[in-house]
Amino acid sequence: MNPWIAKAVVLGASVVMVAIRAPHGNRSRGVKTVKSCKGTREVVLLVVAWIGFFVPLIWVASPAFSFAEYRLHLAPLVAGVACLGLGLWLFHRSHADLGRYWSITLEVRENHRLVTEGVYRRVRHPMYTALFLYSLGQLLALPNWVAGPSYLVCFGILFALRIGAEEQMMLDAFGAEYDAYRAKTKRLVPGLW
Ligand code: SAH
Repeated sequence: MNPWIAKAVVLGASVVMVAIRAPHGNRSRGVKTVKSCKGTREVVLLVVAWIGFFVPLIWVASPAFSFAEYRLHLAPLVAGVACLGLGLWLFHRSHADLGRYWSITLEVRENHRLVTEGVYRRVRHPMYTALFLYSLGQLLALPNWVAGPSYLVCFGILFALRIGAEEQMMLDAFGAEYDAYRAKTKRLVPGLW
């Protein structure tokens, strides 16, 4: 199949992702922070995640990774598009449910409330589930050994090194309320993990 189909898919998905995030990024700047855990490690992890996000766009726009190209097949493309679509829907829903408490990093906002409804009812980190679905979608739809796994690897690193600190921050901020929430929810996959 023509790799330009995959390029159009990757470009379209990236545009939708940026469009979902943009209004939340703008609003976030105006919400007062009462506690920030944005240390050097967080900054490095955010840079790693941005690199992972941009590598597929470099693949779309240039021949830089042409040495790692392989043939595009219909089945993984269709599965990839499904994962990207589901991931983007969940990305949108989790931003909508988290509202003014969303942050690009680890922060407690003024009058922060623990959100336990909507997509936060059964998993504690639906936005990360969304980003894993999205990165799996890229892995499947993008026929290149470098650009395909790029976001999955980079976001996986961010998740692995951030999740403990995030849950500790939430526990410090919400105490028994977060403990009870943690007891009745899973991290990423409803009922499983
Ligand atoms: N890990 C979550 C949210 C990512 S955004 C997810 O994957 O959906 C990161 C910010 O969300 C953190 O600064 C934290 O303050 C906030 N946050 C995470 N879970 C929250 C919750 N259940 N209620 C309110 N704020 C939450």
